[in-house]
Amino acid sequence: MLIVMGKNARREHIDAVVDRIKSLNLTPHVIPGAQRVAIGITGNKGPIDPGLLVSMKGVRDVIPVSRPYKLVSREVKNEDSIIHVGNVPIGGASAIVIAGPCAVESEEQAMKIAGVVKAAGASIFRGGAFKPRTSPYSFQGLGEEGLRILARVRERFDIPVVTEAIDPQNVDLVEEFADIIQIGARNMQNFSLLKRAGKAKKPVFLKRGMSATIEELLMSAEYIMSEGNYDVILCERGVRTFADHTRNTLDLSAVPAVKELSHLPIIIDPSHGTGRRDKVSPLAKAALAVGADGVMVEVHHAPEQALSDGPQSLLPDQFESLMKELTSLAGVLGKPIL
Ligand code: PEP
Ligand code: MN
Repeated sequence: MLIVMGKNARREHIDAVVDRIKSLNLTPHVIPGAQRVAIGITGNKGPIDPGLLVSMKGVRDVIPVSRPYKLVSREVKNEDSIIHVGNVPIGGASAIVIAGPCAVESEEQAMKIAGVVKAAGASIFRGGAFKPRTSPYSFQGLGEEGLRILARVRERFDIPVVTEAIDPQNVDLVEEFADIIQIGARNMQNFSLLKRAGKAKKPVFLKRGMSATIEELLMSAEYIMSEGNYDVILCERGVRTFADHTRNTLDLSAVPAVKELSHLPIIIDPSHGTGRRDKVSPLAKAALAVGADGVMVEVHHAPEQALSDGPQSLLPDQFESLMKELTSLAGVLGKPIL
C-alpha cells in the first residue's frame, strides 16, 4: 500500500503517518518526490484497512499497490531514481560508463587500466576482488588485498569503484572499501546476501541472474530496498539461451521492460552479455540506443594474460574508440555521458 501525502503536508503529518504505520507492526518507507512525499508500507501479510490512514492530516490518497514488488515499482515512485555516487549521478537524464578489468590482479595492472579508462572518460572503475568462478581451480581474486588496491585507485584517479561481494559476511569488508557493492548474476537470489546488502550504507549494483525473469530481478531489488537501502542500480548482463555464437544472449529488451515497471536505473553489461571482444562495442552502443542509463565494460591492457575474462576484455585503444562513439551517440540521443 502507498500513502500519498498532500503537497502541503507538514513534517509532523508525515511523522504521524510513519508512527501509525509502525504501531500497526508494519514498516514505513518514506519516498521523497519532486512534488510530494509518498510513504510505502511493507510487512503486511494481508490487505491493510485504508480507513486507518486515509483520514489522517496531510494524507491525500491511499493506494493499494497491485504489483508483487512495491518499493521498486513506478506505482510507488513515478520519477526516475537518481543514485549519487560521489559526484556521479546514475539514472535520470544522463548516462555513465563503468570500466575496468574483470578482476584486480595486481596493483600495477589495476593502476594501468584505471589510468586508461579514466583518461578516456569512464566515470566509475570496476574490478573484482572476490571472484565467483565456475571452477574452484580458477583464480578466485586477491580478496582484501584487491579491495585495498581499489581504494588506492580511487585515491589516485579520483574515481569511485565498484566491486563484488559474494556472501553476507563479505559485505562488511566490501562496504568498507568500495563505493558501490556489486551482487553478481550467480547471487541474484542469494536472499541472505540481498538482505545484508539492504542494510549497507552504500549503493548496490544488482546483476540479473542468467536465468532470471524481469519480475525475479525486480523482486531481488525489492529485498534490498525493503531493508532500507533504496540505492539500487540494476544490470542486465545476458541470459542463457540456445544461441552459442555469444557467451550469453544480451537481453536489451530488459531496458524498456524495466523502465516501464520500475524507477530504478538500469545499466547494460555487454562484456558478460557477449563474452567476445568484437561484440562488445556494437552492443554497448545499442544499449544507449534502447535507453540504458549506462554500460559496464571490461578492459585489459594484456587480455591474453588476464586471469579472468580476457576474451571479452576490450584493449585500451578499443575502449578509447568506444568512448568516442558513445559520446557522439549520446549527443544524438540527448542523454549525455557524464
Ligand atoms: C563480473 O562483473 O565480473 C561478473 C562476475 O559478472 P556476472 O555476475 O554478471 O557474471
Ligand atoms: Mn568478468
